[in-house]
Amino acid sequence: MKWTLFVLLFTPWVQAQEVTAFVDVAVVPMDRAGVVEHQTVLVAQGRIQRIAPIRSARIPANARRIDGRNKFLMPGLADMHVHFVREALPELPPALANKAPGAPRIPASASPDHERENRAYALMFLSNGVTTVRNMWGSPTIDAFAAEIRSHDVAGPFIYSTGPITDGNPPMWFSSRVVETATEAEAAVKADKREGYVAIKVYSLLSSDAYAAIVTAARKEGLPVVGHAPRSIGLEGAIAARQDSIEHLDEFLPSLQPGGRSAQRKPFADALRDMDPRRLPGLARDIAAARIWVCPTIVVRDLPRTDPVWREEASFVPPSVFERYARMYPNIAAGTDPRSTPRAHEVDLSIVAALHNAGAQLLLGTDTPKPGVLPGYSLHDELVNFVSAGLSPYEALRAGTVEAARFLGRSSDFGVIAEGRRADLLLLEANPLDDVRNTSKIAGVMVVGRWWTAEDLRKSLIALRASY
Ligand SMILES: [Zn+2]
Repeated sequence: MKWTLFVLLFTPWVQAQEVTAFVDVAVVPMDRAGVVEHQTVLVAQGRIQRIAPIRSARIPANARRIDGRNKFLMPGLADMHVHFVREALPELPPALANKAPGAPRIPASASPDHERENRAYALMFLSNGVTTVRNMWGSPTIDAFAAEIRSHDVAGPFIYSTGPITDGNPPMWFSSRVVETATEAEAAVKADKREGYVAIKVYSLLSSDAYAAIVTAARKEGLPVVGHAPRSIGLEGAIAARQDSIEHLDEFLPSLQPGGRSAQRKPFADALRDMDPRRLPGLARDIAAARIWVCPTIVVRDLPRTDPVWREEASFVPPSVFERYARMYPNIAAGTDPRSTPRAHEVDLSIVAALHNAGAQLLLGTDTPKPGVLPGYSLHDELVNFVSAGLSPYEALRAGTVEAARFLGRSSDFGVIAEGRRADLLLLEANPLDDVRNTSKIAGVMVVGRWWTAEDLRKSLIALRASY
């Protein structure tokens, strides 16, 4: 009994203590374009300890050796917009149960089955080389899950989390935190700071006064403000406030209407038809000049597919997740969302292209899960979207590695392959700088020094699926 406890407590520690050597690997450092061939990378205590040419590298006799020949070692990928599962929702108020018009809708990112669902997401992220995520609706349940991953009790990516969604009254989603006054704004910011969240997350239905109060309070506490540009102020208002990151592209279209944004919001299809692309470069320049980051999540409107590849990937998600998300986004699930058309996708790409050309700071993110967006797999689709928008593979990969770390103020922890950084690594069969699709050719993944081969991860996913 005592011995079992000892093993349970100390196994992670033992693993963190051992030395791993990637021998004769091509390093893709990501702090500069290009590859450094024939390197040995030593990992100890969860960090990259030494990088040296194979001839001069001394490998400790007890080190675990991983053959790196004809393989490429890059920093693990970061999905900068995800939703892990929160605890089950409190009892629904009657208005919501009756679906009264204007009442908040029921979010899908909460479930009594959060533990199993989060484990599935976490494994799907790892299987796709995603070693870092930014979770966009923080909760005690997810904080506890992140701690389990950090202590190596559960396999998963490193989780940075924002506070809960902070919205107006009524909010878009039931169980959001509502802020209407300056006192509430200060309390919300202080609470998020105290909980260790990386930012306060603002949402679409905040009033302009509540938003301004949140920004003021957050600046005072040194807490970043991220999220949607509230409709009350639009993109222009978020730019003026220098919101730290703007999530999704939804607020661009209203600002691209001939004559600019108006109080009356057009239906999406009309706004798409009427948009004036000549307004785009100026808007992108304003965002770049304000040093605002944009996390476009182009994949968010992707439709669920029917091909065998998709069906296999989607089979790793517990079915209850799809049931809830189909209720949350019935139009995407049914394939009738006007934002899921080729024309809407083309406009999304043109917005990202304009932002890139203006020198705006971009983050790679997916908003997973959604009816057509899967943890891990969809980040590879977003990489392809970035390249379609005109970024080079190197630039697209930066948005999901070194730029993600810079945005979070964690450049000394992750994002590049350099001595002293966390050993969050992705070993690939082909060079990702030649083609971003090569990031799917995974040989193995390391998170904080803990190593899994692609085969290990696949077996774990299949075992988990068998429990659904
Ligand atoms: Zn989201």
